[in-house]
Amino acid sequence: MKLTLIRPNLGDYRSSDAMPPLAMGILAARAPDYDVAFYDEKAEPVPEGDEPDLVAMSVETYTARRAYVIADGYRARGVPVVMGGYHPTFLPYEALEHADAVVVGDAEGAWERLLVDFEAGHLERTYAGGNDAPLTDYRIDRSIYHGKHYAPVELVQWGRGCRFSCDFCSIHSFYGASLRVRPLDGLLTEIDSLPAGRLLFFVDDNLFGRKSDLLALLDALAPMKRRWSCQISIDVARDESLLDRLAEAGCAFVLIGFESLNPESLEQMHKAWNSVSGHEGEHRAHGGLRARVTPRDRELQSADSDPWVRAL
Ligand code: SF4
Repeated sequence: MKLTLIRPNLGDYRSSDAMPPLAMGILAARAPDYDVAFYDEKAEPVPEGDEPDLVAMSVETYTARRAYVIADGYRARGVPVVMGGYHPTFLPYEALEHADAVVVGDAEGAWERLLVDFEAGHLERTYAGGNDAPLTDYRIDRSIYHGKHYAPVELVQWGRGCRFSCDFCSIHSFYGASLRVRPLDGLLTEIDSLPAGRLLFFVDDNLFGRKSDLLALLDALAPMKRRWSCQISIDVARDESLLDRLAEAGCAFVLIGFESLNPESLEQMHKAWNSVSGHEGEHRAHGGLRARVTPRDRELQSADSDPWVRAL
Protein backbone atom coordinates (compact mmCIF):
# COMPACT_ATOMS: atom_id res chain seq x y z
CA MET A 1 0.00 0.00 0.00
CA LYS A 2 1.06 3.56 -0.66
CA LEU A 3 1.62 5.93 2.23
CA THR A 4 2.28 9.65 1.77
CA LEU A 5 3.95 11.50 4.63
CA ILE A 6 3.69 15.28 4.60
CA ARG A 7 5.36 18.00 6.62
CA PRO A 8 3.33 21.13 5.76
CA ASN A 9 4.90 24.58 5.64
CA LEU A 10 3.15 27.76 6.77
CA GLY A 11 1.86 28.15 3.23
CA ASP A 12 2.43 26.79 -0.25
CA TYR A 13 6.01 27.99 -0.55
CA ARG A 14 9.53 26.72 0.10
CA SER A 15 11.97 27.71 2.85
CA SER A 16 15.73 27.95 2.40
CA ASP A 17 16.45 26.81 5.97
CA ALA A 18 14.57 23.51 5.85
CA MET A 19 15.95 20.71 8.00
CA PRO A 20 14.82 17.07 8.02
CA PRO A 21 11.82 16.51 10.30
CA LEU A 22 12.67 13.52 12.50
CA ALA A 23 9.00 12.70 13.11
CA MET A 24 8.57 11.74 9.47
CA GLY A 25 11.59 9.42 9.57
CA ILE A 26 10.17 7.78 12.70
CA LEU A 27 6.82 7.16 10.99
CA ALA A 28 8.54 5.75 7.90
CA ALA A 29 10.67 3.37 10.00
CA ARG A 30 7.51 2.08 11.64
CA ALA A 31 5.66 1.43 8.40
CA PRO A 32 8.05 -1.08 6.78
CA ASP A 33 5.37 -2.74 4.66
CA TYR A 34 4.32 0.49 2.97
CA ASP A 35 5.54 2.14 -0.19
CA VAL A 36 6.38 5.49 1.43
CA ALA A 37 6.57 8.86 -0.29
CA PHE A 38 7.57 11.87 1.80
CA TYR A 39 6.86 15.46 0.82
CA ASP A 40 8.35 18.25 2.86
CA GLU A 41 6.57 21.39 1.80
CA LYS A 42 9.47 23.45 3.09
CA ALA A 43 11.63 21.83 0.43
CA GLU A 44 9.24 20.87 -2.37
CA PRO A 45 5.60 21.20 -3.36
CA VAL A 46 3.12 18.46 -2.55
CA PRO A 47 2.30 17.02 -5.97
CA GLU A 48 -1.16 17.77 -7.28
CA GLY A 49 -3.39 14.77 -7.72
CA ASP A 50 -1.34 12.54 -5.40
CA GLU A 51 -3.54 9.54 -4.58
CA PRO A 52 -1.94 7.19 -2.05
CA ASP A 53 -3.92 4.80 0.13
CA LEU A 54 -3.23 6.91 3.23
CA VAL A 55 -1.79 10.32 4.10
CA ALA A 56 -0.13 11.10 7.45
CA MET A 57 0.81 14.63 8.47
CA SER A 58 2.81 16.03 11.35
CA VAL A 59 1.21 19.31 12.36
CA GLU A 60 2.49 22.22 14.42
CA THR A 61 0.23 25.06 15.49
CA TYR A 62 1.88 27.41 13.02
CA THR A 63 1.34 24.95 10.15
CA ALA A 64 -2.17 23.83 11.13
CA ARG A 65 -4.02 26.15 8.77
CA ARG A 66 -1.97 24.95 5.80
CA ALA A 67 -2.20 21.31 6.93
CA TYR A 68 -5.98 21.53 6.97
CA VAL A 69 -6.06 22.89 3.42
CA ILE A 70 -3.86 20.05 2.19
CA ALA A 71 -5.87 17.46 4.14
CA ASP A 72 -9.17 18.76 2.80
CA GLY A 73 -7.81 18.38 -0.74
CA TYR A 74 -6.82 14.74 -0.21
CA ARG A 75 -10.08 13.86 1.52
CA ALA A 76 -12.07 15.48 -1.30
CA ARG A 77 -10.35 12.92 -3.58
CA GLY A 78 -11.31 10.10 -1.23
CA VAL A 79 -7.87 9.66 0.37
CA PRO A 80 -7.99 9.22 4.17
CA VAL A 81 -5.79 11.56 6.19
CA VAL A 82 -4.40 11.07 9.69
CA MET A 83 -2.60 13.69 11.78
CA GLY A 84 -0.28 13.81 14.75
CA GLY A 85 2.14 16.17 16.41
CA TYR A 86 1.78 19.03 18.85
CA HIS A 87 -1.27 20.77 17.44
CA PRO A 88 -3.50 17.71 16.99
CA THR A 89 -2.41 16.51 20.44
CA PHE A 90 -3.55 19.75 22.06
CA LEU A 91 -6.63 20.26 19.87
CA PRO A 92 -7.66 16.81 18.59
CA TYR A 93 -11.26 17.76 17.93
CA GLU A 94 -10.26 20.69 15.78
CA ALA A 95 -7.89 18.45 13.81
CA LEU A 96 -10.61 15.83 13.42
CA GLU A 97 -12.62 18.32 11.39
CA HIS A 98 -9.95 17.77 8.71
CA ALA A 99 -8.63 14.30 9.48
CA ASP A 100 -10.00 10.79 9.71
CA ALA A 101 -7.93 9.99 12.79
CA VAL A 102 -5.56 11.76 15.15
CA VAL A 103 -2.61 10.47 17.19
CA VAL A 104 -2.46 12.16 20.59
CA GLY A 105 1.02 12.17 22.10
CA ASP A 106 3.97 10.06 20.99
CA ALA A 107 3.69 8.29 17.65
CA GLU A 108 5.43 5.08 18.70
CA GLY A 109 2.92 2.34 19.39
CA ALA A 110 -0.14 4.44 18.51
CA TRP A 111 1.03 4.74 14.88
CA GLU A 112 1.38 0.97 14.50
CA ARG A 113 -2.08 0.42 16.03
CA LEU A 114 -3.51 2.98 13.64
CA LEU A 115 -1.97 1.21 10.64
CA VAL A 116 -3.36 -2.15 11.76
CA ASP A 117 -6.84 -0.62 12.06
CA PHE A 118 -6.49 1.14 8.72
CA GLU A 119 -5.60 -2.09 6.98
CA ALA A 120 -8.60 -3.75 8.65
CA GLY A 121 -10.83 -0.93 7.43
CA HIS A 122 -11.94 0.52 10.73
CA LEU A 123 -9.95 3.53 11.87
CA GLU A 124 -10.70 4.86 15.32
CA ARG A 125 -10.97 8.62 15.64
CA THR A 126 -8.14 9.02 18.16
CA TYR A 127 -5.09 6.97 19.10
CA ALA A 128 -3.45 7.67 22.44
CA GLY A 129 0.32 7.57 22.19
CA GLY A 130 1.02 8.76 25.71
CA ASN A 131 4.16 10.56 26.76
CA ASP A 132 6.07 8.23 29.02
CA ALA A 133 6.93 5.00 27.19
CA PRO A 134 10.65 4.17 27.37
CA LEU A 135 12.59 5.23 24.27
CA THR A 136 14.22 1.83 23.96
CA ASP A 137 12.87 1.11 20.49
CA TYR A 138 13.74 4.38 18.76
CA ARG A 139 14.00 3.86 15.00
CA ILE A 140 14.35 6.30 12.15
CA ASP A 141 14.43 5.86 8.38
CA ARG A 142 16.56 8.68 6.97
CA SER A 143 16.30 7.45 3.38
CA ILE A 144 13.15 9.55 2.99
CA TYR A 145 15.24 12.74 3.33
CA HIS A 146 17.42 12.03 0.30
CA GLY A 147 17.37 14.66 -2.40
CA LYS A 148 15.57 17.31 -0.35
CA HIS A 149 18.50 19.78 -0.29
CA TYR A 150 18.28 20.34 3.43
CA ALA A 151 20.60 22.61 5.39
CA PRO A 152 23.96 20.88 6.02
CA VAL A 153 23.21 19.74 9.55
CA GLU A 154 22.16 16.36 10.93
CA LEU A 155 19.39 16.35 13.52
CA VAL A 156 19.39 13.74 16.26
CA GLN A 157 17.17 13.16 19.26
CA TRP A 158 18.44 11.82 22.55
CA GLY A 159 15.52 12.51 24.86
CA ARG A 160 12.10 14.02 25.29
CA GLY A 161 10.67 16.29 27.96
CA CYS A 162 12.03 19.05 30.16
CA ARG A 163 12.31 19.30 33.94
CA PHE A 164 11.01 22.88 33.86
CA SER A 165 7.47 24.05 33.20
CA CYS A 166 7.63 27.52 31.67
CA ASP A 167 4.04 28.55 31.18
CA PHE A 168 4.34 29.51 27.50
CA CYS A 169 6.08 26.28 26.47
CA SER A 170 4.42 23.38 24.71
CA ILE A 171 6.99 20.88 25.97
CA HIS A 172 5.69 20.61 29.50
CA SER A 173 2.10 20.51 28.23
CA PHE A 174 2.98 17.69 25.86
CA TYR A 175 5.27 15.60 28.06
CA GLY A 176 4.17 16.58 31.57
CA ALA A 177 6.71 15.50 34.15
CA SER A 178 8.00 12.75 31.89
CA LEU A 179 11.75 12.99 31.24
CA ARG A 180 13.19 10.26 29.02
CA VAL A 181 16.45 9.57 27.24
CA ARG A 182 17.34 6.90 24.72
CA PRO A 183 19.83 4.19 25.59
CA LEU A 184 23.25 5.52 24.62
CA ASP A 185 24.29 2.56 22.49
CA GLY A 186 21.46 3.14 20.01
CA LEU A 187 22.14 6.87 19.91
CA LEU A 188 25.86 6.41 19.29
CA THR A 189 25.23 3.86 16.55
CA GLU A 190 22.91 6.33 14.87
CA ILE A 191 25.45 9.16 15.15
CA ASP A 192 28.14 6.88 13.71
CA SER A 193 25.95 6.35 10.66
CA LEU A 194 25.71 10.09 9.94
CA PRO A 195 28.15 11.77 7.55
CA ALA A 196 31.50 12.45 9.20
CA GLY A 197 32.32 16.11 9.58
CA ARG A 198 28.69 17.19 9.46
CA LEU A 199 27.46 19.34 12.35
CA LEU A 200 24.98 17.51 14.59
CA PHE A 201 22.09 19.26 16.27
CA PHE A 202 20.30 17.67 19.21
CA VAL A 203 16.63 18.54 18.83
CA ASP A 204 15.96 17.83 22.52
CA ASP A 205 14.23 20.84 24.01
CA ASN A 206 16.61 20.88 26.95
CA LEU A 207 19.64 18.60 26.81
CA PHE A 208 20.20 19.23 30.53
CA GLY A 209 17.60 16.95 32.08
CA ARG A 210 19.25 14.80 34.73
CA LYS A 211 22.87 15.72 35.37
CA SER A 212 23.94 12.07 35.61
CA ASP A 213 22.42 11.38 32.18
CA LEU A 214 24.06 14.43 30.67
CA LEU A 215 27.48 13.47 32.03
CA ALA A 216 27.08 9.96 30.61
CA LEU A 217 26.18 11.45 27.23
CA LEU A 218 29.17 13.79 27.26
CA ASP A 219 31.52 10.95 28.22
CA ALA A 220 30.18 8.92 25.31
CA LEU A 221 30.38 11.75 22.79
CA ALA A 222 33.88 13.01 23.62
CA PRO A 223 35.80 10.16 21.91
CA MET A 224 33.63 10.43 18.81
CA LYS A 225 35.19 13.80 17.98
CA ARG A 226 31.94 15.12 16.50
CA ARG A 227 30.97 18.77 16.44
CA TRP A 228 27.48 19.36 17.74
CA SER A 229 25.06 21.88 19.18
CA CYS A 230 21.93 21.76 21.26
CA GLN A 231 19.25 23.61 23.16
CA ILE A 232 19.92 23.79 26.87
CA SER A 233 18.78 25.60 30.01
CA ILE A 234 21.03 28.33 31.35
CA ASP A 235 21.58 26.62 34.67
CA VAL A 236 24.09 24.35 32.95
CA ALA A 237 26.50 27.28 33.25
CA ARG A 238 26.31 27.35 37.04
CA ASP A 239 28.77 24.49 37.01
CA GLU A 240 31.96 25.54 35.26
CA SER A 241 33.26 21.99 35.06
CA LEU A 242 30.09 21.02 33.22
CA LEU A 243 30.73 23.75 30.65
CA ASP A 244 34.23 22.37 30.19
CA ARG A 245 32.80 18.89 29.73
CA LEU A 246 30.38 20.19 27.09
CA ALA A 247 33.19 21.80 25.13
CA GLU A 248 35.42 18.72 25.46
CA ALA A 249 32.60 16.54 24.15
CA GLY A 250 32.40 18.61 20.96
CA CYS A 251 29.66 21.09 21.79
CA ALA A 252 30.29 24.02 19.46
CA PHE A 253 27.39 26.25 20.52
CA VAL A 254 24.18 26.13 22.48
CA LEU A 255 20.82 27.80 22.08
CA ILE A 256 19.42 29.23 25.32
CA GLY A 257 15.99 30.76 25.78
CA PHE A 258 16.63 33.92 27.80
CA GLU A 259 13.06 35.11 27.13
CA SER A 260 13.55 38.27 29.22
CA LEU A 261 16.05 40.00 31.45
CA ASN A 262 13.21 41.43 33.50
CA PRO A 263 12.80 39.37 36.72
CA GLU A 264 9.08 40.17 36.93
CA SER A 265 8.49 38.90 33.41
CA LEU A 266 10.41 35.72 34.19
CA GLU A 267 8.40 35.24 37.37
CA GLN A 268 5.19 35.68 35.40
CA MET A 269 6.16 32.95 32.93
CA HIS A 270 7.31 30.54 35.68
CA LYS A 271 10.90 30.95 34.58
CA ALA A 272 12.33 32.83 37.55
CA TRP A 273 15.22 30.34 37.67
CA ASN A 274 16.38 31.85 34.37
CA SER A 275 17.19 35.17 36.03
CA VAL A 276 20.41 36.82 34.93
CA SER A 277 20.76 38.68 38.22
CA GLY A 278 23.59 37.23 40.24
CA HIS A 279 24.57 34.86 37.46
CA GLU A 280 26.24 37.13 34.97
CA GLY A 281 29.22 34.81 35.10
CA GLU A 282 27.04 32.27 33.32
CA HIS A 283 26.99 34.34 30.20
CA ARG A 284 30.65 34.89 29.61
CA ALA A 285 32.65 33.14 27.00
CA HIS A 286 33.72 29.85 28.45
CA GLY A 287 35.48 26.76 27.24
CA GLY A 288 34.88 27.64 23.60
CA LEU A 289 31.21 28.45 24.16
CA ARG A 290 30.47 32.09 23.42
CA ALA A 291 27.45 34.33 23.95
CA ARG A 292 26.18 36.07 20.84
CA VAL A 293 23.83 39.02 21.14
CA THR A 294 22.54 40.79 18.05
CA PRO A 295 22.03 44.57 17.80
CA ARG A 296 18.30 43.92 17.68
CA ASP A 297 18.52 42.02 20.98
CA ARG A 298 20.23 45.02 22.51
CA GLU A 299 17.58 47.36 21.17
CA LEU A 300 14.77 45.17 22.53
CA GLN A 301 16.44 44.87 25.89
CA SER A 302 17.74 48.44 26.10
CA ALA A 303 16.19 48.95 29.53
CA ASP A 304 18.26 46.03 30.77
CA SER A 305 21.36 46.59 28.70
CA ASP A 306 23.89 46.04 31.48
CA PRO A 307 23.48 42.27 31.66
CA TRP A 308 23.91 42.03 27.90
CA VAL A 309 27.04 44.14 28.03
CA ARG A 310 28.41 41.93 30.77
CA ALA A 311 27.46 38.92 28.68
CA LEU A 312 29.95 39.99 26.05
S1 SF4 B 1 13.28 25.34 29.86
FE1 SF4 B 1 12.79 25.52 27.67
S2 SF4 B 1 11.99 23.52 27.07
FE2 SF4 B 1 11.93 23.60 29.29
S3 SF4 B 1 9.84 24.26 29.78
FE3 SF4 B 1 11.15 26.10 29.73
S4 SF4 B 1 11.02 26.89 27.60
FE4 SF4 B 1 10.23 24.77 27.62
